[in-house]
Amino acid sequence: MRSKIVAGNWKMNNDLAASKALVGELVSEVSGLSLDNTRVIVAPTFVNLESSVAAAEGSAIEVVAQNMHQADSGAYTGEISGSMLTSLGLKSVILGHSERRAYFGEDDALLASKVDAALKNNLEVIFCFGEELEDRKSENHFNIVGGQLKNGIFHLDAAAWKNVVLAYEPVWAIGTGETASADQAQEMHAFIRNLVSETYGAEVADEVSILYGGSVKPENATEIFSKPDVDGGLIGGAALNASDFMGIVTAI
Ligand code: PEP
Repeated sequence: MRSKIVAGNWKMNNDLAASKALVGELVSEVSGLSLDNTRVIVAPTFVNLESSVAAAEGSAIEVVAQNMHQADSGAYTGEISGSMLTSLGLKSVILGHSERRAYFGEDDALLASKVDAALKNNLEVIFCFGEELEDRKSENHFNIVGGQLKNGIFHLDAAAWKNVVLAYEPVWAIGTGETASADQAQEMHAFIRNLVSETYGAEVADEVSILYGGSVKPENATEIFSKPDVDGGLIGGAALNASDFMGIVTAI
């Protein structure tokens, strides 16, 4: 049975003290929950990964990275490799976030190479994609999403998909306060699952968790998560506050 997942992407927020404090709060909050088949994930900045792993040790909180470089080592000033992440004890990495695509020029081909490098390093990939507002207005959103999947991750073989989580994040809903309706999310998630099924078969499609991201809050999480093809959320702003994030975890 595929997992339910609530993942908090902290982006470039929280210094060392704030990261440790937030992980600590979440650790104590989740300790009272029965997290049946549900994963709770946080993605701090690179410099706070090690301290966050230590703060989360022995708890149900998983610490993941927000990005990585496709090369394993070398003259890439300022970059972080997959093997560096695994050396900290990490098991997963987010790739393809719309901010990486928009501000750092990460295109489908680059992301495909990052996906390969992550899997080679035994890192699960949380692969993000989603259309811009103009794509939705022009009713081109299914084409855009299909293209991002085909060019970024559908080169994998079926066996690799046990280490893939998909995160559909319509760019127009990220950090804007505007959320896709639960029906819009379900429609796109069903389309995505169907594409995975056409390419890899029903078993792979049934097992892959597909998260929704875009202004999820405690107030709208229950309705979005009630949809059959929505397996959880990738949370930005609301992940920076322990009680908001836990409200979303409780909703799932
Ligand atoms: C995100 O950045 O992945 C995200 C979903 O952000 P927010 O929840 O703030 O819209």
